[in-house]
Amino acid sequence: MAAPSICTKSQMIASIADRWKASYYYPVSGGWDGRDKKEIYDRLVKERPTTAAPIAEIIGDDSWTRLPCDGCNQDSELLVTVGAEPDYDSSTASICPTCLRAALALVPQCELQARDTDRSSEQAEKGATP
Ligand SMILES: [Zn+2]
Repeated sequence: MAAPSICTKSQMIASIADRWKASYYYPVSGGWDGRDKKEIYDRLVKERPTTAAPIAEIIGDDSWTRLPCDGCNQDSELLVTVGAEPDYDSSTASICPTCLRAALALVPQCELQARDTDRSSEQAEKGATP
């Protein structure tokens, strides 16, 4: 079980050139997985796109900036990942704020308040300010 984590579309956009290179450049051989992959990387570095649309234009599709929710399958600006460490076929779910709110709505209010009280007690014991 991995700690919950968050991923945003702006993180995806900011890291696009590095992620592209990590996928298609082989440092041991010093070669690219095809000349087109190197040309795409060079354009990503040179043009430094700050939105998803120009990245899709450079790459040819929006697969590198899409954040599809595992709950509603909608492209989201932000996903929260819960469950097992993400891997092929792992029990991991990445869900959007709308689906996260819908899930939290299933938890009885008294349960949420009890957990908040538990955390406040822990912080008081550690001498931390709330
Ligand atoms: Zn969703």
